[in-house]
Amino acid sequence: MSNDEKKKPLDFIRAMVEDDLRTGKYGGRVATRFPPEPNGYLHIGHTKAIWLNYGIAQEYGGTFNLRFDDTNPASEKQRYVDAIIEDIRWLGVDWEDRLYFASDYFEQMYEWGEKLIRDGSAYVDSLSEAEIRDYRGTVMEPGRPSPFRDRPAEESLDLYRRMREGEFEDGAHVLRAKIDMAHPNMTMRDPLLFRIRHESHYRRGDEWCIYPMYDYAHCLEDAIEDITHSLCTLEFKVNREIYDWVLDAVGIERPRTEQTEFARLNIDYTVMSKRKLVQLVDGGHVSGWDDPRLPTVAGLRRRGVTPEAIRKFNEMIGVADVDSRIEYSRLEFAIRDDLNWRSPRRLAVLDPLKVVITDYPEGRVEWIDAPEFPHDIGKEGTRRMPFTREVWIERSDFMEEPFRKFYRLAPDREVRLRHAYVIRCDEVVKDEDTGEIVELRCSHDPDTLGANPADGRRIKGTIHWVSAEHAVPAEVRLYDRLFSVPDPEADLGEDQDFTVNLNPESLIVVEGARVEPALADDRPGTRYQFERHGYFMSDPEASSQNGLVFNRTVTLRDSWARMEKDR
Ligand code: ATP
Ligand code: MG
Repeated sequence: MSNDEKKKPLDFIRAMVEDDLRTGKYGGRVATRFPPEPNGYLHIGHTKAIWLNYGIAQEYGGTFNLRFDDTNPASEKQRYVDAIIEDIRWLGVDWEDRLYFASDYFEQMYEWGEKLIRDGSAYVDSLSEAEIRDYRGTVMEPGRPSPFRDRPAEESLDLYRRMREGEFEDGAHVLRAKIDMAHPNMTMRDPLLFRIRHESHYRRGDEWCIYPMYDYAHCLEDAIEDITHSLCTLEFKVNREIYDWVLDAVGIERPRTEQTEFARLNIDYTVMSKRKLVQLVDGGHVSGWDDPRLPTVAGLRRRGVTPEAIRKFNEMIGVADVDSRIEYSRLEFAIRDDLNWRSPRRLAVLDPLKVVITDYPEGRVEWIDAPEFPHDIGKEGTRRMPFTREVWIERSDFMEEPFRKFYRLAPDREVRLRHAYVIRCDEVVKDEDTGEIVELRCSHDPDTLGANPADGRRIKGTIHWVSAEHAVPAEVRLYDRLFSVPDPEADLGEDQDFTVNLNPESLIVVEGARVEPALADDRPGTRYQFERHGYFMSDPEASSQNGLVFNRTVTLRDSWARMEKDR
């Protein structure tokens, strides 16, 4: 740990871990885990839980388990297991040989169920699902005991075994804890432990037709793996009581795993639950789980975000015990901060306008050594940029009738071409029919290559350009926020869902871009700053139908802050 990190005040979870180490509660042991359910891809919210658990294990010489919490056959898939493993590896997190599956514990969980029945702590209930709900009562009213609550243990045991053997239909019986139907905490009103589901499990196949419920399974998974600090998000606060109850009932002795809750990560302009992300993927609103607009780890990776940026973001926002929404611009800030020092600069023209430098000889090519990084980054390196008589500039860098403070190119005005000459616009050529500007005819000052004009006149603007002869065609994908409002789930009408708030401009595909030739031979997945446009990464997968393909990771500035102020 560096001195800097040491000085940072501890978050409340690390403070607790340090306390436990001081008092020797777990004999100096720290064991954490990340328990994803393989029913979708990981999102950036999960990375908060990953860094918290993994970070604590690392900082305190503990162990970190990756455990798939795969107790529900309905939506879990091997493909999600594979994707989650790939994502966590990419994040740089190492679980060594501690990869576990809750579905490997079914037998043990089943047996503990028998024990609970024998001890009078559980019973098989034969009410229907709807009846169970009805008997449970409400926050205001106590529940009523099921007529099966006091059936003899022998009878429950027999039914429980036959549930497992597959004798009954889904929903015919359930195993329930026998606690208190009037308990003020609703989750303690005889919660379900096992239910019948005749459904194949992606790992266990048809071995099982009863599956454990979360409140029963999760604490047992932690206990089996000898976890010390079981960290989960705040909405599970009410489940803590049942967590401890189950562990007591099966006889796990203290000191043992304890649950602590922290605030989940929510970010503006996006949605963060797998259930919602599935809806976007399956509904065709995005191109897949790795669509660069999604807050998924795979999407962020494809967009060009690095694991280091995600980690920095998590450190920046910290860990607290009250929920909050994080501004999207803070994520963008962390991404820019990381890409700034690692991305060599390049020039790319997204909306090209032809400039002919009439006093520059035809056929002449000057190769300019242009630095890869600005001075303040302190990194060496240059790439070669060809300068020729015809170049492309950005259409928006020319105005026929410039407004005040427009310091770029205009008739009879001068501008510097980045790393090259100062040029003057002498003539504007228009399409005779449409009036559209099709070409600018300019002259250059031959003494200004990398130097100021000899006569001391000041050039206010610098614009980017590429050689028309050497430039490479490219498709540039400009990604933006997926939703156009900060909270996509707020203020929805009766039959609206959050997809009405999708930002129609979250992806703009620019097909006719021209980029400097130094970009042509690079590996896909290389990151750059296109000067004045933002940070980009060449797409690792897209084919080159339209030439090279670049994804914009983030703009150079927070343009939304202005828009929000205006609103
Ligand atoms: P989702 O609603 O996206 O499916 P989940 O909690 O159901 O989320 P799990 O796969 O069960 O997804 O989550 C694995 C772990 O990640 C849990 O410990 C959970 O608390 C944590 N986690 C999930 N979402 C977030 C989030 N937004 N911020 C922090 N931690 C999260
Ligand atoms: Mg879940």
